[in-house]
Amino acid sequence: MTETTNQPTQAAGTTARAYGAPAADAPLHALEIPRRTIGAGDIRIDIRFCGICHSDIHFARGEWGDIPYPAVPGHEITGVVAEVGADVTGFAPGDRVGVGCMVNSCRECSSCQGGTEQYCLAGNTQTYGSVDRDGTVTYGGYSDHVVVDQDFVLRIPDGLELDVAAPLLCAGITTYSPLRHWGAGPGKQIAVVGLGGLGHMAVKLAKAMGAEVTVLSQSLRKQEDGLRLGADGYHATSDDATFEALAGRFDLIINTVSAPIDIGRFLNLVKTDGALVNVGAPPEPLPVPVFSLLMQRRTFAGSAIGSIAETQEMLDFCAEHGIAAEIELVGAEQINDAWERVLDSDVRYRFVIDTATL
Ligand code: NAP
Ligand code: ZN
Ligand code: ZN
Repeated sequence: MTETTNQPTQAAGTTARAYGAPAADAPLHALEIPRRTIGAGDIRIDIRFCGICHSDIHFARGEWGDIPYPAVPGHEITGVVAEVGADVTGFAPGDRVGVGCMVNSCRECSSCQGGTEQYCLAGNTQTYGSVDRDGTVTYGGYSDHVVVDQDFVLRIPDGLELDVAAPLLCAGITTYSPLRHWGAGPGKQIAVVGLGGLGHMAVKLAKAMGAEVTVLSQSLRKQEDGLRLGADGYHATSDDATFEALAGRFDLIINTVSAPIDIGRFLNLVKTDGALVNVGAPPEPLPVPVFSLLMQRRTFAGSAIGSIAETQEMLDFCAEHGIAAEIELVGAEQINDAWERVLDSDVRYRFVIDTATL
Protein backbone atom coordinates (compact mmCIF):
# COMPACT_ATOMS: atom_id res chain seq x y z
CA MET A 1 0.00 0.00 0.00
CA THR A 2 1.32 3.46 -0.92
CA GLU A 3 1.86 6.05 1.80
CA THR A 4 -0.40 9.02 0.92
CA THR A 5 0.46 11.48 3.71
CA ASN A 6 1.08 15.00 2.37
CA GLN A 7 4.62 15.89 3.33
CA PRO A 8 5.44 19.61 3.18
CA THR A 9 8.09 20.36 0.58
CA GLN A 10 9.87 22.81 2.88
CA ALA A 11 10.18 23.31 6.59
CA ALA A 12 6.90 24.78 7.82
CA GLY A 13 8.23 27.06 10.53
CA THR A 14 7.34 26.68 14.18
CA THR A 15 4.37 27.16 16.46
CA ALA A 16 4.64 29.62 19.32
CA ARG A 17 2.67 29.70 22.56
CA ALA A 18 1.10 33.13 22.81
CA TYR A 19 -1.51 35.31 24.48
CA GLY A 20 -3.83 37.39 22.37
CA ALA A 21 -7.21 39.00 21.84
CA PRO A 22 -9.72 37.11 19.66
CA ALA A 23 -11.77 40.28 19.09
CA ALA A 24 -11.74 43.99 19.99
CA ASP A 25 -14.07 43.54 22.96
CA ALA A 26 -12.91 40.13 24.24
CA PRO A 27 -10.33 39.33 26.94
CA LEU A 28 -6.95 37.98 25.91
CA HIS A 29 -6.44 34.23 26.19
CA ALA A 30 -3.84 31.57 25.45
CA LEU A 31 -3.46 30.61 21.80
CA GLU A 32 -0.91 29.28 19.32
CA ILE A 33 0.56 31.26 16.44
CA PRO A 34 2.83 30.35 13.52
CA ARG A 35 6.38 31.68 13.23
CA ARG A 36 8.11 31.64 9.85
CA THR A 37 10.95 29.31 8.98
CA ILE A 38 14.23 30.94 9.87
CA GLY A 39 15.72 32.55 6.73
CA ALA A 40 19.40 33.15 5.96
CA GLY A 41 19.36 36.60 7.58
CA ASP A 42 16.98 35.74 10.40
CA ILE A 43 17.39 35.16 14.10
CA ARG A 44 15.08 33.02 16.23
CA ILE A 45 14.77 34.49 19.71
CA ASP A 46 13.51 32.72 22.80
CA ILE A 47 11.48 35.49 24.39
CA ARG A 48 11.98 35.85 28.13
CA PHE A 49 10.13 39.09 28.85
CA CYS A 50 7.72 41.41 27.10
CA GLY A 51 6.55 44.80 28.35
CA ILE A 52 2.91 45.90 28.20
CA CYS A 53 2.70 49.20 26.31
CA HIS A 54 -0.48 51.27 26.18
CA SER A 55 -0.18 50.96 22.39
CA ASP A 56 -0.90 47.22 22.77
CA ILE A 57 -4.30 48.17 24.19
CA HIS A 58 -5.12 50.89 21.62
CA PHE A 59 -4.21 48.39 18.89
CA ALA A 60 -5.92 45.24 20.15
CA ARG A 61 -9.08 47.14 21.06
CA GLY A 62 -9.30 48.43 17.49
CA GLU A 63 -9.00 52.06 18.61
CA TRP A 64 -6.56 52.94 15.83
CA GLY A 65 -8.64 51.25 13.12
CA ASP A 66 -9.64 47.79 12.00
CA ILE A 67 -7.08 45.06 12.54
CA PRO A 68 -6.91 41.33 11.84
CA TYR A 69 -7.75 39.02 14.79
CA PRO A 70 -6.49 37.27 16.75
CA ALA A 71 -4.25 40.15 17.82
CA VAL A 72 -1.06 39.18 19.63
CA PRO A 73 0.53 42.42 20.86
CA GLY A 74 3.91 43.07 22.45
CA HIS A 75 6.80 45.17 21.16
CA GLU A 76 9.06 45.44 24.18
CA ILE A 77 10.77 42.11 23.77
CA THR A 78 13.91 40.79 25.41
CA GLY A 79 15.28 37.28 25.19
CA VAL A 80 18.11 35.06 24.12
CA VAL A 81 19.18 34.06 20.62
CA ALA A 82 18.19 30.43 19.99
CA GLU A 83 19.22 30.00 16.35
CA VAL A 84 20.74 32.11 13.58
CA GLY A 85 20.42 31.84 9.80
CA ALA A 86 23.38 31.08 7.53
CA ASP A 87 24.11 34.75 6.72
CA VAL A 88 23.91 36.08 10.27
CA THR A 89 27.29 37.34 11.42
CA GLY A 90 26.71 39.70 14.33
CA PHE A 91 24.74 37.43 16.64
CA ALA A 92 25.21 33.93 18.00
CA PRO A 93 23.08 31.54 20.06
CA GLY A 94 23.04 32.61 23.70
CA ASP A 95 23.33 36.36 22.99
CA ARG A 96 21.03 38.62 25.00
CA VAL A 97 18.89 40.58 22.57
CA GLY A 98 15.85 42.79 22.19
CA VAL A 99 13.20 43.64 19.61
CA GLY A 100 11.16 46.82 19.61
CA CYS A 101 8.26 48.16 17.58
CA MET A 102 9.47 47.38 14.07
CA VAL A 103 10.91 44.28 12.42
CA ASN A 104 11.59 45.52 8.89
CA SER A 105 11.38 48.47 6.49
CA CYS A 106 11.79 49.00 2.73
CA ARG A 107 15.52 49.86 3.04
CA GLU A 108 15.39 51.95 -0.15
CA CYS A 109 13.47 55.15 0.59
CA SER A 110 15.14 58.35 1.74
CA SER A 111 14.22 57.66 5.38
CA CYS A 112 15.65 54.13 5.31
CA GLN A 113 18.77 55.31 3.48
CA GLY A 114 19.10 58.25 5.85
CA GLY A 115 18.99 56.18 9.02
CA THR A 116 15.45 56.99 10.14
CA GLU A 117 13.77 53.76 9.07
CA GLN A 118 11.08 54.28 11.71
CA TYR A 119 9.81 56.87 9.25
CA CYS A 120 10.11 54.53 6.23
CA LEU A 121 8.08 56.14 3.45
CA ALA A 122 6.60 52.77 2.56
CA GLY A 123 5.66 52.25 6.21
CA ASN A 124 7.89 50.13 8.43
CA THR A 125 6.85 46.57 9.25
CA GLN A 126 5.49 46.70 12.78
CA THR A 127 6.27 43.91 15.24
CA TYR A 128 2.57 43.14 15.39
CA GLY A 129 -0.38 43.78 13.09
CA SER A 130 1.69 44.40 9.93
CA VAL A 131 1.96 42.35 6.77
CA ASP A 132 5.29 40.55 6.93
CA ARG A 133 7.53 39.96 3.90
CA ASP A 134 6.08 36.46 3.43
CA GLY A 135 2.55 37.90 3.27
CA THR A 136 1.55 36.73 6.75
CA VAL A 137 0.48 39.01 9.59
CA THR A 138 3.09 39.78 12.25
CA TYR A 139 2.43 38.69 15.83
CA GLY A 140 4.07 40.39 18.79
CA GLY A 141 5.97 39.45 21.88
CA TYR A 142 3.21 38.10 24.13
CA SER A 143 4.65 34.77 23.00
CA ASP A 144 7.50 32.37 23.66
CA HIS A 145 9.61 32.92 20.53
CA VAL A 146 9.89 35.12 17.46
CA VAL A 147 11.82 35.14 14.18
CA VAL A 148 13.28 38.54 13.24
CA ASP A 149 15.61 39.88 10.56
CA GLN A 150 19.07 40.45 12.06
CA ASP A 151 19.04 44.16 11.09
CA PHE A 152 16.15 44.79 13.50
CA VAL A 153 17.59 42.96 16.51
CA LEU A 154 19.16 44.98 19.34
CA ARG A 155 21.93 43.97 21.68
CA ILE A 156 21.16 44.19 25.42
CA PRO A 157 24.34 45.49 27.08
CA ASP A 158 25.86 43.63 30.02
CA GLY A 159 24.62 45.11 33.24
CA LEU A 160 21.03 45.52 32.05
CA GLU A 161 18.77 42.73 33.29
CA LEU A 162 16.40 41.41 30.63
CA ASP A 163 13.20 42.07 32.62
CA VAL A 164 13.84 45.76 33.33
CA ALA A 165 15.40 46.27 29.90
CA ALA A 166 12.29 45.13 28.01
CA PRO A 167 10.39 48.45 28.35
CA LEU A 168 13.37 50.33 26.96
CA LEU A 169 12.58 48.85 23.54
CA CYS A 170 9.52 51.09 23.21
CA ALA A 171 8.99 53.36 26.23
CA GLY A 172 12.74 54.03 26.39
CA ILE A 173 13.41 54.86 22.76
CA THR A 174 10.14 56.75 22.26
CA THR A 175 11.17 59.27 24.91
CA TYR A 176 14.94 59.18 24.29
CA SER A 177 14.59 60.12 20.61
CA PRO A 178 12.64 63.40 21.04
CA LEU A 179 14.72 64.35 24.09
CA ARG A 180 17.83 64.08 21.92
CA HIS A 181 16.25 65.63 18.84
CA TRP A 182 15.03 68.70 20.76
CA GLY A 183 18.29 69.09 22.65
CA ALA A 184 17.54 68.01 26.24
CA GLY A 185 20.61 68.69 28.36
CA PRO A 186 22.12 70.94 31.01
CA GLY A 187 20.33 74.26 31.38
CA LYS A 188 17.15 72.99 29.70
CA GLN A 189 13.78 72.92 31.42
CA ILE A 190 11.83 69.81 30.42
CA ALA A 191 8.29 68.86 31.42
CA VAL A 192 6.86 65.37 31.13
CA VAL A 193 3.07 65.10 30.96
CA GLY A 194 1.75 61.77 32.35
CA LEU A 195 3.75 59.55 34.70
CA GLY A 196 3.08 56.14 33.16
CA GLY A 197 5.33 53.79 31.19
CA LEU A 198 6.69 56.38 28.77
CA GLY A 199 6.57 59.20 31.28
CA HIS A 200 8.70 57.52 33.92
CA MET A 201 11.35 56.70 31.31
CA ALA A 202 11.26 60.29 30.05
CA VAL A 203 11.96 61.54 33.59
CA LYS A 204 14.92 59.19 34.07
CA LEU A 205 16.40 59.84 30.64
CA ALA A 206 16.01 63.64 30.68
CA LYS A 207 17.57 63.73 34.15
CA ALA A 208 20.51 61.60 33.00
CA MET A 209 20.99 63.96 30.06
CA GLY A 210 21.45 66.77 32.58
CA ALA A 211 18.16 68.63 32.15
CA GLU A 212 15.90 69.98 34.90
CA VAL A 213 12.75 67.86 34.87
CA THR A 214 9.19 68.59 35.96
CA VAL A 215 6.34 66.06 36.02
CA LEU A 216 2.83 67.23 35.11
CA SER A 217 0.50 64.52 36.38
CA GLN A 218 -3.26 64.48 36.85
CA SER A 219 -2.84 64.52 40.65
CA LEU A 220 -0.11 64.49 43.29
CA ARG A 221 -0.79 60.80 43.99
CA LYS A 222 2.55 59.69 42.52
CA GLN A 223 4.61 62.73 43.57
CA GLU A 224 6.94 60.79 45.86
CA ASP A 225 7.72 58.32 43.07
CA GLY A 226 8.26 61.10 40.56
CA LEU A 227 10.81 62.84 42.75
CA ARG A 228 12.54 59.52 43.49
CA LEU A 229 12.78 58.84 39.74
CA GLY A 230 14.68 62.11 39.39
CA ALA A 231 12.13 64.86 38.82
CA ASP A 232 13.00 68.26 40.25
CA GLY A 233 9.39 69.43 40.31
CA TYR A 234 5.97 67.77 40.35
CA HIS A 235 2.63 69.48 39.71
CA ALA A 236 -0.99 68.41 39.41
CA THR A 237 -2.74 69.36 36.18
CA SER A 238 -6.07 69.18 38.04
CA ASP A 239 -4.95 72.35 39.86
CA ASP A 240 -5.44 75.54 37.81
CA ALA A 241 -2.64 77.20 39.78
CA THR A 242 -0.18 74.86 38.01
CA PHE A 243 -0.88 76.54 34.69
CA GLU A 244 -0.39 80.01 36.13
CA ALA A 245 2.78 79.18 38.05
CA LEU A 246 4.51 77.45 35.14
CA ALA A 247 3.49 79.74 32.25
CA GLY A 248 6.34 80.10 29.72
CA ARG A 249 8.66 77.89 31.80
CA PHE A 250 9.72 75.00 29.53
CA ASP A 251 12.07 74.57 26.60
CA LEU A 252 10.46 71.23 25.85
CA ILE A 253 7.33 69.41 26.95
CA ILE A 254 6.95 65.71 26.17
CA ASN A 255 3.29 64.71 26.25
CA THR A 256 2.95 60.98 26.93
CA VAL A 257 -0.78 60.97 27.70
CA SER A 258 -2.82 58.23 26.03
CA ALA A 259 -5.98 60.34 25.94
CA PRO A 260 -6.74 63.77 24.45
CA ILE A 261 -5.63 66.70 26.63
CA ASP A 262 -6.13 70.46 26.31
CA ILE A 263 -3.06 71.17 24.17
CA GLY A 264 -3.53 74.95 24.32
CA ARG A 265 -3.13 75.02 28.09
CA PHE A 266 0.13 73.06 27.86
CA LEU A 267 1.46 75.12 24.93
CA ASN A 268 1.21 78.19 27.16
CA LEU A 269 3.79 76.57 29.45
CA VAL A 270 6.36 76.52 26.61
CA LYS A 271 9.03 79.24 26.26
CA THR A 272 9.50 81.34 23.16
CA ASP A 273 10.88 79.02 20.44
CA GLY A 274 10.24 75.97 22.60
CA ALA A 275 8.36 72.83 21.62
CA LEU A 276 5.58 70.59 22.83
CA VAL A 277 6.17 67.11 21.41
CA ASN A 278 3.34 64.61 21.42
CA VAL A 279 4.30 60.98 21.76
CA GLY A 280 0.96 59.92 23.24
CA ALA A 281 -1.24 58.41 20.55
CA PRO A 282 -4.94 58.88 21.31
CA PRO A 283 -7.11 58.07 18.32
CA GLU A 284 -9.01 61.36 18.61
CA PRO A 285 -7.72 64.58 16.96
CA LEU A 286 -6.28 67.22 19.30
CA PRO A 287 -7.51 70.77 18.61
CA VAL A 288 -4.62 73.26 18.63
CA PRO A 289 -5.29 76.97 19.31
CA VAL A 290 -2.98 78.61 16.77
CA PHE A 291 -2.47 81.78 18.80
CA SER A 292 -0.68 79.69 21.45
CA LEU A 293 1.76 78.71 18.69
CA LEU A 294 2.33 81.92 16.79
CA MET A 295 2.56 84.39 19.68
CA GLN A 296 5.78 82.81 21.01
CA ARG A 297 6.91 80.99 17.84
CA ARG A 298 6.24 77.70 19.59
CA THR A 299 6.30 74.31 17.89
CA PHE A 300 3.76 71.53 18.30
CA ALA A 301 5.34 68.32 17.03
CA GLY A 302 5.13 64.54 17.12
CA SER A 303 7.68 61.76 17.34
CA ALA A 304 7.53 58.00 16.81
CA ILE A 305 9.94 55.52 18.44
CA GLY A 306 13.50 55.87 17.04
CA SER A 307 15.78 54.20 14.52
CA ILE A 308 17.52 50.90 15.21
CA ALA A 309 20.88 52.68 15.57
CA GLU A 310 19.37 55.21 17.97
CA THR A 311 17.69 52.40 19.93
CA GLN A 312 21.08 50.73 20.37
CA GLU A 313 22.55 54.10 21.40
CA MET A 314 19.72 54.46 23.98
CA LEU A 315 20.34 50.96 25.37
CA ASP A 316 24.05 51.70 25.72
CA PHE A 317 23.24 55.08 27.34
CA CYS A 318 20.95 53.31 29.85
CA ALA A 319 23.61 50.74 30.71
CA GLU A 320 26.21 53.48 31.15
CA HIS A 321 23.93 55.55 33.41
CA GLY A 322 22.40 52.63 35.32
CA ILE A 323 18.92 53.36 33.98
CA ALA A 324 16.16 50.81 33.49
CA ALA A 325 12.39 50.62 33.84
CA GLU A 326 10.53 50.28 37.14
CA ILE A 327 8.51 47.16 36.52
CA GLU A 328 5.84 44.91 37.94
CA LEU A 329 6.38 41.39 36.65
CA VAL A 330 3.17 39.55 35.72
CA GLY A 331 2.26 36.06 34.55
CA ALA A 332 0.04 35.27 31.57
CA GLU A 333 -3.05 34.94 33.77
CA GLN A 334 -2.61 38.53 34.98
CA ILE A 335 -2.38 40.22 31.57
CA ASN A 336 -6.07 41.18 31.39
CA ASP A 337 -5.95 42.69 34.89
CA ALA A 338 -2.73 44.52 34.04
CA TRP A 339 -4.45 46.07 31.01
CA GLU A 340 -7.28 47.30 33.24
CA ARG A 341 -4.78 48.85 35.62
CA VAL A 342 -2.98 50.60 32.73
CA LEU A 343 -6.35 52.02 31.64
CA ASP A 344 -6.90 53.26 35.21
CA SER A 345 -3.47 55.04 35.25
CA ASP A 346 -2.52 52.54 37.95
CA VAL A 347 0.75 51.30 36.47
CA ARG A 348 3.98 51.68 38.46
CA TYR A 349 5.50 52.00 36.00
CA ARG A 350 5.50 49.22 33.44
CA PHE A 351 3.97 45.77 33.51
CA VAL A 352 6.31 43.14 32.10
CA ILE A 353 5.16 39.64 31.18
CA ASP A 354 7.29 36.69 32.27
CA THR A 355 6.86 34.63 29.10
CA ALA A 356 7.78 31.40 30.92
CA THR A 357 4.19 31.54 32.20
CA LEU A 358 2.59 31.47 28.74
P1 NAP B 1 0.52 54.62 30.26
O1 NAP B 1 1.53 53.83 30.97
O2 NAP B 1 -0.91 54.29 30.38
O3 NAP B 1 0.77 56.17 30.68
C1 NAP B 1 -0.07 57.22 30.27
C2 NAP B 1 -0.21 58.21 31.42
O4 NAP B 1 -0.99 59.30 30.94
C3 NAP B 1 -0.97 57.68 32.62
O5 NAP B 1 -0.19 56.96 33.50
C4 NAP B 1 -1.50 58.96 33.23
O6 NAP B 1 -0.44 59.58 33.97
C5 NAP B 1 -1.76 59.84 32.02
N1 NAP B 1 -3.17 59.80 31.61
C6 NAP B 1 -3.91 58.72 31.26
N2 NAP B 1 -5.16 59.07 30.94
C7 NAP B 1 -5.23 60.42 31.10
C8 NAP B 1 -6.25 61.39 30.89
N3 NAP B 1 -7.48 61.03 30.49
N4 NAP B 1 -5.95 62.69 31.13
C9 NAP B 1 -4.73 63.06 31.54
N5 NAP B 1 -3.72 62.18 31.74
C10 NAP B 1 -3.97 60.89 31.53
O7 NAP B 1 0.79 54.62 28.68
P2 NAP B 1 2.20 54.48 27.90
O8 NAP B 1 2.45 53.05 27.61
O9 NAP B 1 3.20 55.30 28.58
O10 NAP B 1 1.79 55.14 26.50
C11 NAP B 1 1.34 56.49 26.47
C12 NAP B 1 0.84 56.84 25.08
O11 NAP B 1 1.95 56.86 24.18
C13 NAP B 1 -0.16 55.87 24.48
O12 NAP B 1 -1.12 56.60 23.76
C14 NAP B 1 0.70 55.03 23.55
O13 NAP B 1 -0.03 54.47 22.50
C15 NAP B 1 1.64 56.08 23.04
N6 NAP B 1 2.90 55.57 22.48
C16 NAP B 1 3.41 56.24 21.41
C17 NAP B 1 4.63 55.84 20.90
C18 NAP B 1 5.24 56.61 19.78
O14 NAP B 1 6.09 56.08 19.06
N7 NAP B 1 4.88 57.88 19.63
C19 NAP B 1 5.30 54.74 21.44
C20 NAP B 1 4.75 54.12 22.56
C21 NAP B 1 3.54 54.53 23.07
P3 NAP B 1 -0.75 60.40 35.32
O15 NAP B 1 -1.50 59.46 36.21
O16 NAP B 1 0.59 60.76 35.81
O17 NAP B 1 -1.58 61.61 34.94
ZN1 ZN C 1 4.92 50.78 22.69
ZN1 ZN D 1 11.87 52.84 3.64
